[in-house]
Amino acid sequence: MRRVSILGATGSIGQNTLDLIRRAPGAFQVAALTGGQNIAQLAKDAVEFQVELAVTADPARLEDLRAALGSSGISAAAGEAALIEAAEVPSDWIMSAIVGVAGLAPGLAALGQGTTLALANKESLVAAGPLMMATAAAHGARILPVDSEHSAIFQALVGEDARAVDRIVITASGGAFRDRPLADLAHVTVAEASEHPNWEMGQRITIDSASMFNKALEVIEAKEFFGVHPDQIEVLVHPQSTVHALVGFVDGALMAHVGPPDMRHAIGYALNWPHRRALPVERLDLAALGRLDFAHPDPARYPALGLARQVMEAGGHSGVIFNAAKERALDHFIAGRIGFSRMSALVAQALDEVCDTQTPGSGCDTITLESVRRWDHFTRQHIDRLVAA
Ligand code: NDP
Repeated sequence: MRRVSILGATGSIGQNTLDLIRRAPGAFQVAALTGGQNIAQLAKDAVEFQVELAVTADPARLEDLRAALGSSGISAAAGEAALIEAAEVPSDWIMSAIVGVAGLAPGLAALGQGTTLALANKESLVAAGPLMMATAAAHGARILPVDSEHSAIFQALVGEDARAVDRIVITASGGAFRDRPLADLAHVTVAEASEHPNWEMGQRITIDSASMFNKALEVIEAKEFFGVHPDQIEVLVHPQSTVHALVGFVDGALMAHVGPPDMRHAIGYALNWPHRRALPVERLDLAALGRLDFAHPDPARYPALGLARQVMEAGGHSGVIFNAAKERALDHFIAGRIGFSRMSALVAQALDEVCDTQTPGSGCDTITLESVRRWDHFTRQHIDRLVAA
């Protein structure tokens, strides 16, 4: 029986992971679960799976969690240190599905126990890819991708020689505004940006799909994960979201991963790896689908992709700055303080201005958990100042 823990269990990825575990009775034992504000869900799942430890990220909700767990005998804890504690509960497999850079410290703690980390939390690779990879190597831990595109690349590489890889092609649906006139983008609403044409996901990642900030994060994630040169990564708009990624080899072969837009495929692949087990996902009817379209993304419509290239070239802490600026700009968009197009303008400005403050020789190119936190905080404040000005 595989012992598993889920960091970010109450979210979309966490709930899909529990759904798969529920459907495989006897195969998994759940050791620890973490959540944030959704105490009712966290307690319900903790009791159903009889976990050892349930953790909420918010210390103010600890009493609520204890009350919801009642007389179950399950240990409850709260706050940042407790998230680390949950990541350190001995487990064969840990899902990293906390949203945002808050997932970095627990992810590093999980790697520290030399386990297998299923990584949905792309922000930790964007902000601290070299630190994550070095921590995994130092402790003999393994990172498995959960993002559907990266899972697709990973699967296309099974049995292949990594040196024979020529290029990686990541597909993007194009999001909610793929066919909108460019001039309208400054005036689109939060509700419109929150409608994804193909995938059912949380609001933030859906808006990030419309702006392609999500794809920009994925491009950086692919560079960190697969160790390829940025020039080897290509993005294509593929409205059907059926081909998740392709790997091109030096002999001209292109291996495509084709599947339904359902995160339970990528989660299930990581959960059962290195085996394949039956998963409750739709079997694609290619004849019914009829056609698959691909197009180059328009740089004017999706400036986030150009910013991702800038980040990969700059290295150092630019990934932290990019992610923090993007997250804070998104907060301001959702709150109605800025328009949709201003998000990428703000992130571009932050990359120029915050990077300028990194003085040569100050050691700020060495990425540590503390340095990530510092630059993350500084960048968020910088975005707030720009919006307030
Ligand atoms: P959700 O917002 O649905 O869930 C996030 C989880 O993190 C919840 O359990 C939430 O708790 C918890 N959480 C929120 N803030 C904090 C915090 N500060 N500290 C600790 N825990 C916190 O996100 P998703 O499940 O959609 O995404 C999770 C990760 O997976 C993200 O990095 C995302 O980019 C990535 N991903 C998601 C995909 C998807 O289809 N959704 C696809 C590919 C990658 P609570 O809800 O209880 O407050």
